[in-house]
Amino acid sequence: MPNISGHTELVGLMAYPIRHTKSPATHNLAYDINGDDVVQLAFEVDNDSLPAAVESIRALKMLGSNISMPNKTVVHRYLDEVDEAARLCGAINTVVNLRDENGRVTGKLKGYNTDGMGYWQAMSAEGIDYHGRKLVLIGTGGAAAAIAVRGALDGLSEIQLFNIKDDFYSRGEGIAATINAHTGCKAAMNDLSDLALLKAKMTEADIFCDATGVGMDPMEDLSNIPDPSYFRKDLIVTDTVYVPSETVMMKQAKEAGCTKVLNGMGMMLYQALIAIELFTGKATPVDYMKEKLGIC
Ligand code: NAD
Repeated sequence: MPNISGHTELVGLMAYPIRHTKSPATHNLAYDINGDDVVQLAFEVDNDSLPAAVESIRALKMLGSNISMPNKTVVHRYLDEVDEAARLCGAINTVVNLRDENGRVTGKLKGYNTDGMGYWQAMSAEGIDYHGRKLVLIGTGGAAAAIAVRGALDGLSEIQLFNIKDDFYSRGEGIAATINAHTGCKAAMNDLSDLALLKAKMTEADIFCDATGVGMDPMEDLSNIPDPSYFRKDLIVTDTVYVPSETVMMKQAKEAGCTKVLNGMGMMLYQALIAIELFTGKATPVDYMKEKLGIC
C-alpha cells in the first residue's frame, strides 16, 4: 500500500470499461521499488469525457496517463505533440506531461505508443537482434499496427501482413502504405486465406507474430496456422496473447521444433515499464517485476 502524502504525484489510466485492469498493480509495484512517491489510479473515461479528463492532467499537474479503449485513436486531438510511431500507427496508449529543465511538469502533453516498443524490447531482452530481419505478422488491429510501425522504424527489412477479409483488412493496406511511405522497411498486405502464400512467406521470414487474439478466450482452441509444417525450426515465434500462457499456435511451433517461442507477457510488461520510465525518468528492475508478477 503506497504511503500517500501531500506530495504524492498521480498517473492516470483512462479507459472505459476499465475496472478489470491489472495496470495499477504493475505501476504501483514499480513506483514503490523505484522509490517514487507516485501512484497510478484507473478512471472510467469514454470519448465524451476524454477532453475534460485530458485537461485535468494539466490542471492537476499529473505526470501523465495511460490511455486505453475507446480513447487510443482519438486522444491525439487534445495533445500538444505526438511521437512519430504513435502518429504513424494512429494510436496512443501513453500521455506524458512533459517536464522543464527543473523537472517540473509543464502542461505540454505528448502522446506515445509503448505497445510496439514493448513488443520489440521484449525481443531484445531475449537476445534477439531484429534489425534487418523479415517479419510475418497476422493481424492488422491496434496491437499489430503498433508492432509493425515500431519494427519498421527500428530497422526491420520487410513486413508481410496477413489478415482475414473483415473490416480490419483495409486498415492493413493503410498500415503497409504508411510503412512504405515513411520508413526504409518494405511492407505488403496479404489475404490470410491464401495459405500457400502464408507458408511461403513464413519460410522466408525470421520472425512470426500472431496479433489477432485467436488462441485466447473465446477462440482458445483455435490457431490461424493450419499445422506445424508452417514453422521452420529457427523461426522466432511470438503471440501477443498471454492468457493462456501457451496458445495452440505456440504449441504447434514447439511441435515443429522451434526453440524461441514467446507469448505476449513480455510485451505487456515492457510496455508498462517503458511508460513508467516516460513518466518518472526511472528504469524499473525487470527481474524484480517478473518475480513479483509471477512472469517466468
Ligand atoms: P483489435 O480488435 O484491434 O484487432 C483484432 C485483429 O484480429 C484484427 O486484425 C482482426 O481482423 C483479427 N481477427 C479477429 N478475429 C479473427 C479471427 N477469427 N481469425 C483471424 N483474425 C481475426 O485487437 P488488438 O487490440 O490489436 O489486440 C489483438 C490481440 O493482442 C488481443 O489478443 C490482445 O489481448 C493482444 N494484445 C496484447 C498486448 C500485450 O501487451 N501483450 C497488447 C495489446 C493487445
